Parts: sequence; C-alpha cells; structure tokens
Amino acid sequence: MNKKRVIVLGAGPGGYTAAFLAADRGMNVTLIDENLNPGGVCLHKGCIPSKSLLHLSRLIEETRHAEVCGVKFHPPEIDLDRIREWNREVISKMANGLSTLCKQRGVEFISGRAHFLDGNSLSINNKDRIFFDHCIIATGSQPTCPSLFSNIGNHALTSTTALDLENIPERLLVVGGGYIGLEMGTVYSSLGSQVTVVEMTGDLLAGVDRDLVRPLFTRLKSKFENIFLNTQVVFCEMQNNQVAVQFNSGIENTCYDRILLAVGRRPNTVDLGLESTKVEINDKGFIQVDDRFQTGEPSISAIGDVVGGAMLAHKASADGKKVIAILADSRSSKKTSSIPAVVFTDPEIAWCGLTETEAINDDRKIQVAKFPWGASGRAQTLGRPDGVTKLIIDPKTEQVLGAGVTGVGAGELIGECVLAINNGLKVKDLANSIHPHPTLSETLMECAESFYGEATHIYKRPKKQQSV
Ligand code: FAD
Repeated sequence: MNKKRVIVLGAGPGGYTAAFLAADRGMNVTLIDENLNPGGVCLHKGCIPSKSLLHLSRLIEETRHAEVCGVKFHPPEIDLDRIREWNREVISKMANGLSTLCKQRGVEFISGRAHFLDGNSLSINNKDRIFFDHCIIATGSQPTCPSLFSNIGNHALTSTTALDLENIPERLLVVGGGYIGLEMGTVYSSLGSQVTVVEMTGDLLAGVDRDLVRPLFTRLKSKFENIFLNTQVVFCEMQNNQVAVQFNSGIENTCYDRILLAVGRRPNTVDLGLESTKVEINDKGFIQVDDRFQTGEPSISAIGDVVGGAMLAHKASADGKKVIAILADSRSSKKTSSIPAVVFTDPEIAWCGLTETEAINDDRKIQVAKFPWGASGRAQTLGRPDGVTKLIIDPKTEQVLGAGVTGVGAGELIGECVLAINNGLKVKDLANSIHPHPTLSETLMECAESFYGEATHIYKRPKKQQSV
C-alpha cells in the first residue's frame, strides 16, 4: 500500500535499468521519456543503430578481403532504403521488448517531456503534475554542434542524423577523431564515401594507449582519404552545394559534400526545471552528485551520461543498478568497478582497468605483457593478424591491473579481463586457465604466459619463473 513512489526520468540504459530493478525490489515505479518508446539514445540513436551499420560495414570489408583467400564477390549493391528499414526493425524489436518488460514488471511508462516543479513533483508536457518520493534523473546527453558549422544547414551531420543515412556523400569530412567519428567514418567509407578525419590533437582516440591505436591507425590510413592530425577547421561555407572548408595547418582548402560533427556530447539538463530544485550542475552542465548519486536535493538522484564520467551505456546501466541498491538499502555504497570501453572500428579496440598511459602519467610501477596477433592461429585463419593483446600487471603482486586488446572482435574478449581485474586475479590465473583452440581468447592466456617468458607461440627470454 505504502510503496515508495519512484520516478525515473529518461528511459535510456541508465533509466530503464534503474526502473526495472526498482520494480523488482518492490517499488512503485513510473518511467518517463519524451520518446514514444523506452531505449534512449543507446537504442534509438546510438549504440544499437551504429553497431547494425558497423556490422554491414564489416560484411562488406570481409567480402572485399575474401579475394585474397580465393573467393571473389562482386561489389555490393547498396539499397539504402532497405538498410534504413532493417535498422528500424532491429530498433523496434528491442523497443517492443523493453515495453513488454515494463508491463511485465508493472512499471508505468509515460511518453512526454518532464519538467521539475519542485523537489517532489514534476509536470509532463507542461500539464499533468506527478508527485514522487524519489526521482532518478537519467536524461542522458546530446551531440555538441559548434557554431562554426551553423551556416551549412543540413550539410552538417551529427551522430544522430548520420545514422539516418539520408545519402552516401561522395566526400565526407569527419570532425573529431574520437570513437563516434571513427565508427561512423568506417560505416560511410565502407558504403562508398571518401572519408577524411580531422582531429585537433596529435592522435586518434586521445587517451587510449598508442600501441592499441596503431593497428587501427594503419588500417584507417589505407581506408580513408586523409587523416589530418593537429588540425582544426577554422572556417566553412557553402559553395555550389558543397562545403568549402579551411583548415588551420596549411592544408589546402577543400570541398566536402557533408561534414560529420563528432566533437563531443553535452548533458541534457537544459529546460528540465532544475532551478526549481536544489539540484546543482557544473560549468559544463553535468549534474553534480556525490558518491551515492545523490544530488543537492535529498529526493533526487542522477545517473548515466547526465552526470558525466565515462559516457557509455554499460556505465549508465551499472549506475542504474547501484542507485537502486542504495535506495533500497542506505548502507549500500557506490562500489567502483572497472568500466570497459570498446571502439567498434575495424579492428576493434577494447580496454579496461588501468591503462599504460595512466600508469605512466601517475608514475606508477607496472609491467606490461604483450602478445601480437600474428602469432595467433585464430587471427591468421581470419586473415586478421593486425592485433595485439596486452596486460598491465603489478610487478610485486602479479595482479592484473588493466588490459587492452586491439583486433577483430576485441570487444568480445574484454569481458574476461573485467572479471580478472574486478576479482583481483593474478596473471598466473589467466596463464593457467585452459582457453579453447583456435580462438582469439587464447591471446589472453598467451599474453599472461609471456609475462613469464613462457608463451608457446612467441619466444621471449624468461624474466620470471611462474609459481605453479
Ligand atoms: P540516454 O540513453 O541518453 O537516454 C536519456 C533519455 O532521456 C533519452 O531518451 C532522452 O530523450 C530522455 N530525456 C531527456 N530529457 C528529457 C525530459 N526532460 N523529459 C523526458 N525525457 C527526457 N555507448 C556504449 O556503451 N557503447 C557503444 O557502442 C556506444 N555507441 C554509441 C554510438 C553513438 C552514435 C552515440 C551517440 C552514443 C553511443 N554510446 C555508446 C553512448 C551511449 O549511447 C550513452 O552513453 C547512453 O545512451 C547513456 O545512457 P543514459 O541512460 O544516461 O541516457
């Protein structure tokens, strides 16, 4: 009768995960989203549609590559209408699944735009007022569009409009060498665009260990028309239905058919009515929370992209689970665990835990073990030896502190490393676990073995003897 009334605002992976767990724990839950169906950016405009397109891109590239193995395919015929329809089918299947899960759990789903009226109520579409005991804000984020590009209208694409595949531009300029720019650049390149990436820092995927990025960089250099590093767009204007772009680093002015802006995301905190509450935001607009997701308003928590940190779907979902555990039991804490990251390019890059770059920056003593995929039977059978697996190890305790993998399917391999790191496993635990042959997962085992100089398929002078 007196169930806690919980409102979850935003039905992305953070919001719906929180709503479902709250219902599972016996709370009275309403989930609100301005979209017609739950799923948020991740399902409707992010992870899922981009990965569907990257799957097609991979298919196309594999058929191209097959020729070297003696199987020749004709160049693909691209039916954009059908691709869009297929992508919509994938999304709608999953959105329907989420709606069914709402019903099964007794979570009320309301489609509408919410606005806080005070610390205990909000309006939907400026009409209905709903009261709550507790509200969890999970309103996510949206692409940033620098004003420099405001004069080129719909010739400027964001990650959202790029996913619509309105057409395949002959020449595409991707502004931003982060994961979204590289993933979408990969898609458009496979579908036939000549892609150029312009990145203001000195490398793609800033912050990621360079040895992990190198195989990707090499491949993208042969696939893309250009990669301009340490370069910025300083001016652009429409010229004969193309965008004329001026760069700052002596590169000649060039015309492109579309410009994809992938320069970051900003939190959805505008027009939320937060000024009617005690919720505080920082100078970048992210909601400020403590280590229990608590905002300045006792009845309001916030999770996912809107609080910043790693802006990833699985981090938002993990926040969603933790915030409900805290709500259900005030003694629970926001225990941090390793958040993996995957860049779904070709090859993929995945990492978790401590990176080599972080260790160097923090002057922390580590030992790095590496296994090149050229020595992996599985990688060779796939025709993709362009990969590397590495482990970051505490030299004293031999505990696995971090891991990174570059190669096809790297994203599927990183889960094992997350488990190892979160459970304090030692490098010998990986070395002594029998991995199936021939699989890419063996690269983790052999990487661990290489720490002891005992990897079967690479020779390295032994440094340490493994205690069995
Ligand atoms: P969101 O998913 O952003 O959901 C928030 C929801 O709240 C939205 O539906 C929004 O419309 C709604 N909302 C906002 N304001 C209001 C309001 N006032 N009233 C009602 N509703 C409101 N992450 C990964 O982990 N892996 C990937 O491969 C990956 N790929 C991506 C690819 C692209 C192209 C993009 C753009 C993002 C990708 N991401 C990926 C990031 C991922 O999508 C986000 O980190 C994740 O969706 C954040 O989840 P969230 O629950 O915080 O919010």
